[in-house]
Amino acid sequence: MKVLVTNDDGINSPGIMALTREISRIAEVTVVAPDRERSATAHAITMHKPLRAEKFTVAECNAEGWRVNGTPSDCVKLAMDVLLDSSPDMVLSGINHGYNLGTDVIYSGTVSAAIEGALMGIPAVALSVAAGEERCFDYTAKFAVRLCQQIEKQNFPKDTLFNINVPCLREEDMVGVYITHLGIRKYKNSFEQREDPRGKLYYWMAGEPIEDLNDTGSDVWAVNNGYVSMTPVQFDLTKYSIIENVRNWNIRL
Ligand code: MN
Repeated sequence: MKVLVTNDDGINSPGIMALTREISRIAEVTVVAPDRERSATAHAITMHKPLRAEKFTVAECNAEGWRVNGTPSDCVKLAMDVLLDSSPDMVLSGINHGYNLGTDVIYSGTVSAAIEGALMGIPAVALSVAAGEERCFDYTAKFAVRLCQQIEKQNFPKDTLFNINVPCLREEDMVGVYITHLGIRKYKNSFEQREDPRGKLYYWMAGEPIEDLNDTGSDVWAVNNGYVSMTPVQFDLTKYSIIENVRNWNIRL
C-alpha cells in the first residue's frame, strides 16, 4: 500500500511524525507537508507566489519527505501532480493537535487536505486528537494503522472522506469507535480587543467552544463519552431537501 501523509500543523509537528512512523510499518509512505504551521487555512491554495518543495528523509523510518511553503491543499495537489511517481492508495492527514469537530471541519486545514485527496478519488482520512500529551499521538497513530488495515478490506465510498477524532484518554478508558454525524461546536467571545503601543485598537481571535453535548450520535457527543469518533464527510454542500421548495418560489429574471 502507498500512503501520502500530510497535515496542517507543519512538518515538524509530533503528530505527523508519530503517524509517519507507525504507518511506514505497513505501507510505503511519502510525507508532503507544510514547512510551518498552517492550521485553520481551510481549503486555501497558493496562486500568487511560487511553491517550493524541499526533499528530505524522515529520520527513524526512512520515508521520503517533502516540505512545502504552501497550504495543506497545495501539498496534496503538488504531491499528486508532481512529486509522487504514482497515485497513492490512501491520503492520511494529521495527526492534528486538537479536535476537528462539527463546524471546525469548515476551517480545518487537516480536514481540507483529506477533502483534496477525496476530490481526486483517493480514499482519505483526517485524524485529530484532543490537545494533550505526546502519548495521545502514539495511541492515535497505532489506531490509524489498525483503521487502514480494516478500511483496505472495504469498498471505500466514492466522494467521501472520514473525519476521525480521538479523545486523549487512558487506553483502558476508551469505549470503542462510534460512527457519527457532525455535531454542533461554535465559539463564544471570539475576539479580544486590545490596544497597541501607539494607542490603536486591534483584535485577537480567541474564544471558548460551545458544544452541544446532548446531540447523541454526534462527533462532539462521541469524544465526550469516551469513543473514537468516525464521521463520513462529503463535500457536496447542496441542500437537496429544499430544492423543490425553493423552485416553488418562482424567482424570475
Ligand atoms: Mn492544525
